[in-house]
Amino acid sequence: MSEYSFGPLLDGKWVDGEGPAFSTFNPARPGEVVGNYRSAGSGQIAQAGRAARAAQAKWRSLPAAERVKVVGRFLAEVERRSEPIARSITLEQGKPLAESRNETAKALGEAAAMAGHVLSGGTERMADARPGFRNMVTRRPRGVIAAITPWNFPILTPMRKIAPALMHGNAILLKPSEFTPATVCLIAEASEGILPPGLLQVLPGDGRVGAEMVALPEVSGVTFTGSVATGKRIYALGAQTLAELSLELGGKNAAVVNDTDDLDACLDQIAGAAFMCAGQRCTAISRVIVAEPLRQGVEEGLAARARAQRQGDGLDEGVTLGPLTSAAQYARVRDLVEAGRAQGARVVTGGEAGDDPERNGYFYPATILADVTPDMGVAREEIFGPVISVLSYRTLDEAFATLNAVDYGLTSALFSNDYRVIQRFVAESESGMLHVNHGTIPDNHMPFGGIKDSGVGAYSVGASAANFYTTEHSVYLKAG
Ligand code: NAD
Repeated sequence: MSEYSFGPLLDGKWVDGEGPAFSTFNPARPGEVVGNYRSAGSGQIAQAGRAARAAQAKWRSLPAAERVKVVGRFLAEVERRSEPIARSITLEQGKPLAESRNETAKALGEAAAMAGHVLSGGTERMADARPGFRNMVTRRPRGVIAAITPWNFPILTPMRKIAPALMHGNAILLKPSEFTPATVCLIAEASEGILPPGLLQVLPGDGRVGAEMVALPEVSGVTFTGSVATGKRIYALGAQTLAELSLELGGKNAAVVNDTDDLDACLDQIAGAAFMCAGQRCTAISRVIVAEPLRQGVEEGLAARARAQRQGDGLDEGVTLGPLTSAAQYARVRDLVEAGRAQGARVVTGGEAGDDPERNGYFYPATILADVTPDMGVAREEIFGPVISVLSYRTLDEAFATLNAVDYGLTSALFSNDYRVIQRFVAESESGMLHVNHGTIPDNHMPFGGIKDSGVGAYSVGASAANFYTTEHSVYLKAG
């Protein structure tokens, strides 16, 4: 008996999927099945596209304030079900229950902030250029949105797409990760009787379902969060239909520690940003680039914080570090750390993969690697595990060169009280989000996204999401 059992949600009805069956497993006890699912078949994906278009045609004609009200009722129902939703996150993804509760609250907080943006946005009056003319720029819903999400934030990432899509007047087809579909299914259940059928549809399955959804002729916008490799495939697929794209990809985020009045507070921020979600966050701090005089204190302080983590089943009280989510993820973290060690990185703490993860769970210890140099894999590749690579510098030029010597550009942090260094960081750090004297936790109303290999297209969250979820129209009104 599994905890969850779902097929696709098509046009307001849960149906048996016509595609392959698949299961999810508890990463703390991989032998334990958590959910049994049936993927959407090709005919069902096509049907979802048609139902979405029909539902959107009616939905878009409602005033924005009315749409926001209806979505608000749906969000209130999600909130009422927060506890079973948080539990589903921990069961399939593995993070501690407290983090799952925070993730659920943050998803709802971002959605509430989005309501404000939608209600205050829309039409902008522009300067008139010719006598008798009134110029304005107005926005319309984009249409049908296809959304594809990863496994690390089973409610936050989907809700970041559902709330703006619906409030801005679109229909949305959602394909959750095949590792963590339960949470999206529970959210969709909460929409029953509140959202019109066809507006929010769920298509469980793997990459095949995602690719077929992207290619649907009804889809006019594709929002994807996941790895760079998959993002590139979706970019190529999107070229066939010329759908608008928003790709939110990986990161290799750094904290530069130049000077600080309070090293303990600084290291608390870094450790929190590195070990939350067992490091499986696109915004996790994965590199610490420290001024040489502070290096030893930083290494020792981070090692103490790594050792203080309580690792275990996320449902157990007091656990701060859950397992990695899958066998592939476990192997990836282990292999990257081993390669780093072989290249000369020094393990300050952690670094030992446990025995028999299929039996004992995908637990990887919080790990600090020192003596890391910018050319090593552990300094360049996204590890997506509870691992910090420490690099040191002697000059600021060296620090900035190291900071930017990666393909990614998602988020970065600087610890310094020197205004000249701060100014330089704000101007030169090649990342979409910049944090001075704190970790990398974003706010609910601020644009979220990255540059370089970390993203393409409009940022999500905040006002700039409108650039993806709506189309722009220049209007010239002349009295006849
Ligand atoms: P992934 O790319 O393997 O999968 C993401 C989603 O894409 C899944 O739903 C998967 O089924 C689907 N997919 C796979 N192949 C596809 C195809 N050919 N066509 C369409 N869909 C396809 O990523 P993941 O392992 O689930 O997630 C981890 C990655 O996500 C990390 O790189 C992480 O940094 C990134 N991420 C980025 C952000 C951000 O906002 N920038 C947030 C969270 C995670």
